[in-house]
Amino acid sequence: MAHEVPPLPYDYAALEPTIDKQTMTLHHDMHHGAYVKNLNAALEKHPELFKKTPEELLRDLNSIPEDIRGAVRNNGGGHVNHTMFWRIMKPKGGGDPTGPIAQVINKTFGNFKDFQAKFNDAGAKQFGSGWVWLAGKPGGGDVQVISTPNQDSPISQGLFPIFGNDVWEHAYYLKYNNRRPEYLAAWWNVVNWEEINHRYEAFKSGKTVLEPAMAR
Ligand code: MN
Repeated sequence: MAHEVPPLPYDYAALEPTIDKQTMTLHHDMHHGAYVKNLNAALEKHPELFKKTPEELLRDLNSIPEDIRGAVRNNGGGHVNHTMFWRIMKPKGGGDPTGPIAQVINKTFGNFKDFQAKFNDAGAKQFGSGWVWLAGKPGGGDVQVISTPNQDSPISQGLFPIFGNDVWEHAYYLKYNNRRPEYLAAWWNVVNWEEINHRYEAFKSGKTVLEPAMAR
């Protein structure tokens, strides 16, 4: 079965003023759309791989035939990363974290403000395109802030991506121009803590990834 772009769970303009409608439209339809199209085109060369979930493809990139390994890494990563990204944002989101994710943030980083500073700093310092993440070893409980280049997924490092922010210029340039730190600071206004808690519970229970069937 060919992979598909999941519909946005809200309107393109729903995250304004933090993220503008045009950015959301281009980002979801064109950028995410291209990752899925290119992933499917690569897998056509080895159709048996359509049986695997995108997460399974990323978990063991060395098992992917060499002629499509780079395409799967980039476009499979792009597909999985953005599928998470749309869901961990929502209109009228933000505020202080609640529930278990609030507890682990306070325990690991001291308080929410210090965590935000560390996360935003890692996002600002990621050279070129990439992502900043809160991630951890499945079932381990310990979490850390990391950044990855391009569309590399924490899944390929054996880590569970609890949540992440997209620091590619396509995520912010129309509204924030070159001011990435301003985008990183504003982004917390649209964070969906309920969905992040859902992902954190999956992480803590030892799941290696949140399989698509579990996505709500
Ligand atoms: Mn993106």
